[in-house]
Amino acid sequence: MQIDQLGIHDSVSAVFPPEQLRDALADTAPAVSVVDDEGARDCDAVVTFAYEEGFLECEWIHSIQAGYDRFPLEELEDRGIVLTNSTGIHGESVGETVLGYMLSVARRLGQYARQQERTEWNRPDWDVPFTLAGESVCVVGLGTLGRGIATRANALGMEVTGVRRSGEPVEGVERVYTSDELHEAISEARFVALAVPLTEETEELIGRTELATMDEGSHLINVSRGSVVDQDALVSALEDGEIRGAALDVFAEEPLPKDSPLWEMEEVLVTPHAAAYTRGYYEAIAGLVRGNLDRNAAGEEFENRVV
Ligand code: NAD
Repeated sequence: MQIDQLGIHDSVSAVFPPEQLRDALADTAPAVSVVDDEGARDCDAVVTFAYEEGFLECEWIHSIQAGYDRFPLEELEDRGIVLTNSTGIHGESVGETVLGYMLSVARRLGQYARQQERTEWNRPDWDVPFTLAGESVCVVGLGTLGRGIATRANALGMEVTGVRRSGEPVEGVERVYTSDELHEAISEARFVALAVPLTEETEELIGRTELATMDEGSHLINVSRGSVVDQDALVSALEDGEIRGAALDVFAEEPLPKDSPLWEMEEVLVTPHAAAYTRGYYEAIAGLVRGNLDRNAAGEEFENRVV
């Protein structure tokens, strides 16, 4: 593939200023520029956050996210367009965010932040706070995100279990269940953290039955994609006390609509699909793009290739 023009689509500004990435790639072989929808049509390759139809004129699309559920995979394949994603770079950021969620629940930091807004000085009931050490987390999906969570949970002395399609062992995970054993895996964990991609298989993976299977004192954490959870079932489970709380970075509809009951629930932490945000993000993307430019120039296969 001949890449003379590399466009940084202006949609990446959702995560970092496009000029940062343009400058970080300025010394690569192709001419690099920030482009809008129209400008992208003239590029051989485009680095993007959003998907636009004009990208069908390019030969290579690189998504700055790990998830690629919004790209028309079949159409790209039919047209011979390469799609690569950014999996592999979010283990630290999302891992730390998930540890933050769990610490916030256990040490009641979320509760105190809410109280502070109301200038309230209330200590928690004696039996509400706990420590993460000795508590359990079940990580569903043991790829980059899942391992990032597992490693950090381990470091705090948590008992880490996980779910992986193959069931094969993963370092730092005490017991790995297969997908068929999902119910058993999530039934006893204090925290269940979802880190799977959104696929036909994982859509609404966590629904009414799974929420009923979880412990009444447990918390659901979702940093994958909103539709991996049946959101209506989650609201009901929280209202009915089937689970104790949730920390959610992703939603079926984003931004989360203002009238969603999730905003107001005491034991729910809502973050704006920002679990992976970090100021070093553009550098990690530059590394992935540079690597693939080099591989392409050497006639090798693209890394992180989806299509
Ligand atoms: P990854 O490809 O490294 O890991 C995903 C893992 O899930 C793989 O090991 C895969 O085998 C496994 N998996 C797939 N289907 C499964 C199933 N049915 N049961 C159990 N495991 C299954 O991807 P990643 O970088 O870890 O990201 C995972 C997903 O998280 C992405 O697809 C994206 O949707 C989401 N994500 C969200 C954020 C955020 O900001 N909240 C950031 C990065 C990724």
